Amino acid sequence: MRRFLIAGNWKMNTVQGSAESLAGELAAAATSEEAGVEVLVCPPAPYLIPVREKIAGSAVRLGAQDVYFEAPGAFTGEICSEMLQDCGCTFVLIGHSERRAIIGETDQLINSKVRAALAAGLTVVLCVGEQLSEREAGQTEAVLDRQMEGGLEGISEQEAAAVVIAYEPVWAIGTGVTATPDQAQSAHEHLRSWVAARYTPEFAAGIRILYGGSVKPDNAESLLGQPDVDGALVGGASLKGNLFIPIIDAARKLAE
Ligand code: PEP
Repeated sequence: MRRFLIAGNWKMNTVQGSAESLAGELAAAATSEEAGVEVLVCPPAPYLIPVREKIAGSAVRLGAQDVYFEAPGAFTGEICSEMLQDCGCTFVLIGHSERRAIIGETDQLINSKVRAALAAGLTVVLCVGEQLSEREAGQTEAVLDRQMEGGLEGISEQEAAAVVIAYEPVWAIGTGVTATPDQAQSAHEHLRSWVAARYTPEFAAGIRILYGGSVKPDNAESLLGQPDVDGALVGGASLKGNLFIPIIDAARKLAE
């Protein structure tokens, strides 16, 4: 059985004090390893170390929101995989729609980042998702296929064992509009079929596919209850313990 992953993406939010207090709340809510649910938090890069200190000894994993693909060197402003690991990260988000749309990240750049992060031993959360205009034009599956092909180009099945996919329809991110459970399930099923065709059906049965896009306590159970939804990537609601912890609890209930 696939283990739920509930991941919080704090984006460019918090200051050190609020990051530490939120991390403390999460650590208290996930004190020990659980068979059914894994919890991940991705704070802004300057707060990775303070958050690491707060979650030390708990079951909360630490992840970064991005990584650069080069080895240490003359790349002003960038952060490489080795630095993230040195800060205690075991996960990294790659290809978030905000980075694709605002920073202009291409599938080729995303692929370079995926390769570098996997080579360093990080677990990659590869984000994919269509824009509203693409969904309305009936292009959702074609867009997902293109992003999956681009992001995972040259990645072997063995390497892909450390990949988690996050399906995040762009129209649902930070908008308060959530995909219906049926819309999420249909995209996840498609993504799993893509993985089965690209790798093997056995491998596809084990890969985790998270849903992201306005996940809140009141919709978490219905989304996480879909057969191909293996967790959530949560933005806004991950910034408040009283919203994020109930999402973890919804996964716990389903995992029982
Ligand atoms: C995200 O940032 O990945 C996200 C899904 O944001 P939100 O939950 O706020 O829609």
